[in-house]
Order: sequence, then C-alpha cells, then structure tokens
Amino acid sequence: MKTIRLREGKERSLLRRHPWIFESAIARGGADAGETVRVESSDGKFLAWAAFSPASRIRARVWSFDEAQRIDAAFFVATCQYAIRARARFDINSDGQRLIHAESDGLPGLIVDRYGDTLVAQFLSAGAERWKSVLCDALLAETGLDRLYERSDASSRALEGLPEVTGWLRGEGPTELVLREHDWRLAINIATGHKTGFYLDQRDSRRKFADYTRRLRFGRVLNCFCYTGGFTVAALQAGAVHVTSIDSSAPALQQAAANLALNGLDGARATWLDADVNASLRRFGDEGQRFDAIILDPPKFAPTVAHAERAARAYKDINRLAFKILEPGGVLFTYSCSGGISADLFHKIVASAGTDAGVDGFISERLGGAPDHPMTICFPEGEYLKGLVVMRK
Ligand code: SAH
Repeated sequence: MKTIRLREGKERSLLRRHPWIFESAIARGGADAGETVRVESSDGKFLAWAAFSPASRIRARVWSFDEAQRIDAAFFVATCQYAIRARARFDINSDGQRLIHAESDGLPGLIVDRYGDTLVAQFLSAGAERWKSVLCDALLAETGLDRLYERSDASSRALEGLPEVTGWLRGEGPTELVLREHDWRLAINIATGHKTGFYLDQRDSRRKFADYTRRLRFGRVLNCFCYTGGFTVAALQAGAVHVTSIDSSAPALQQAAANLALNGLDGARATWLDADVNASLRRFGDEGQRFDAIILDPPKFAPTVAHAERAARAYKDINRLAFKILEPGGVLFTYSCSGGISADLFHKIVASAGTDAGVDGFISERLGGAPDHPMTICFPEGEYLKGLVVMRK
C-alpha cells in the first residue's frame, strides 16, 4: 500500500473528517490515478484511506477515516447500499431521485440519479473512475435495475485529467424518459439534457412556487433560466394566468413546450423566449412590462470562491433588474447554485440589489436543495444551492 505523508499541521481538516487533501498539504508520496493510498500526518499517524489523483489540485479524496476499513468491492457495495437506503428517510415525492450525492454520501466524485427504472451516473474523480465497474454493479444490485447510462461529460473531469465519456455502461434503453414529480410530469433526455438530464435539486422549490401561486393567485409570472420549464409547468398547473419563460438553449425550450402538452396545459398561457436573461430583463424594464412573480434560477456563476467577486456582480445585476419589474406585492424566487457563494453572501447580494432598485421586501423563506442532495456536518461544501423568497413591499 502506498502512503502519502502530510506537512506539519495539515492533518487538521482530516481530523474534522473533511474529505479533501490539497496538493499543497502533501510533504511526500504519490500513486497512480485513483489508487488507494494511506494518508499519514507529519509524525506518521494514520489519518485516512484516500483515492489519489495526480492531476488534480485536490490531490486525494477520502474513502474512509477508519484504519481497519479495507477499500475493496465490499466497501463500495456497503456505501452505495447505505446511501440508497437513506433516501427512504427523506421526503422525495418523485420517481426522479438523486441516489448518490458524491462527498455527502461518502463517495467523492460520484453522482447517481435515478429516473424511473434508469440510472444515470457521473464519474468525476480519479477514484470514482477507477472503481467504475464495481460501483455500477453495486448500484444495479441495490436498486434491482439493469440499465445505467454514463454522463461523464462534465468539465470537472478535465481537472482530474480524465476525458469526457458518455453512453450505456450497463443494459440499454430509451434515453427519452418521462418523470413524475409532485403533481406534474416532465419529459427529459438523459443523453442530451444538462447534467444527468434534469435539475432534480429544485424539485421542492418548484412545489413551493406552485403553493405560492395557488395562495397568492399570481397573474403574470416570469420564469428566468427556465431550462425544460419545470417551474413553468408548476405555475400553470397551480393556476397562474400566463407564464413568460426565458432560456438561451433552444433544445431546452422545445422540451419545455412539449412539457406543457404532456400536462394538458394550454400553450396559449405560455410565452417562450430564446434569449439572454440579462438583456430581456432590461428590455422588459424599458417597455414597462411588470410581473406578479419572478423566478431567477441562473447557472453556476461561481464554481469556486476564486470566482466569487465577478459572480457577485452578475447575481446583483439580474436581481436588481428583476426587482425593478416586480409589481409591488409581487414575489421573487431567487437562487444561486454556486459553491463559491455562501448563503450569507447571497443574502447580502440580494439585499444590495434591492437597495439599488429602490425596493424593500419581506424575506419569507430561505430555500435549499431537495433532501436527496444532502449536505453533511463534515462537508459544508455540500451546501451549494441556496434560494430566497422575497415578497416586495
Ligand atoms: N430552473 C430550471 C433550471 C435552470 S438551469 C429548472 O427548474 O429545471 C440554468 C439554465 O440557464 C440552463 O437551462 C441554461 O441553458 C440557461 N442559461 C444560461 N445562461 C443563460 C443566459 N445568459 N440567458 C438565458 N438562459 C441562460
């Protein structure tokens, strides 16, 4: 077994059970991509078993902090089993569920989503890549399914020195599927959709938006960064009079329009705009268009803290523009899915956007990702998605 020895004082985060070992923390030692290494403190004490990743700044990711644990097929079977069974304790009203949420489920670099009877996985670290075959078998055995599609085409693979790959890893079947979530159905494409096909993490926010629509009887709704129209369907089904939805992806908009039909909703109640959100918000402002409710669910502007400053300006811009076209008494659902923007910073950004727009509001909810995208006590980075519901005064 190969060993990596840390520099003095660099064991602290591992003693708190944080699973990342940065390149700069290592005094000596190395291994092949994905190989299991024993991690020791500067004075030779055991700290963890980890997967080595020679190309990444996160040079190793921990599998276990237990010296007696062997990192073998049985370990991965047990870890997948635990994560999947834990989903039964979460409140998930959908047949689309995240089964494995990487570090939060003890499997750094592995994302697995279940869409009905199909699994879709992303192997995003050298360690997950090395154990791919064992992980596939474990996932199928625990779920009793026989189809697993790989979507390892995320840009983060490059940081681990891995090429992008997609396709069926086990079994075969349709890549166009229909998902049942809360009270609606949504068509997704696991081969061409974003991430593994869909944004499962916003499931309960879509329901929350439907609840607000019903209670406050929204008339005109604006759904910015609508993707395949999840919030649009939720709003229309809950009785919103008209929803305008914006996205810069034409295939996503096509899918979105089809999703209205799938739910028996009248297409005349929706307007789809293939456009840039920032430019559209400015145009609406200039034209004097106003909305009773606005959703802002942009892509990740700040993947890490290093991007936070520029991202903060971008978040502030869209929030300021949205506040300006929100009717008094209207409601803004605003989100950041950037790991580099903390909940506290996001709150400050939205507050200063409101001030600049000359708008005050009640913060009626703080939102996060759905429970099958858990964060854990030891891995605060698991809190990537945060949202605020602001009721304009
Ligand atoms: N709210 C969606 C998920 C949004 S993901 C849901 O519930 O499923 C972010 C979306 O923003 C993606 O669909 C992407 O195509 C779109 N996007 C990214 N940059 C954009 C821009 N500048 N203008 C409009 N859409 C953009």
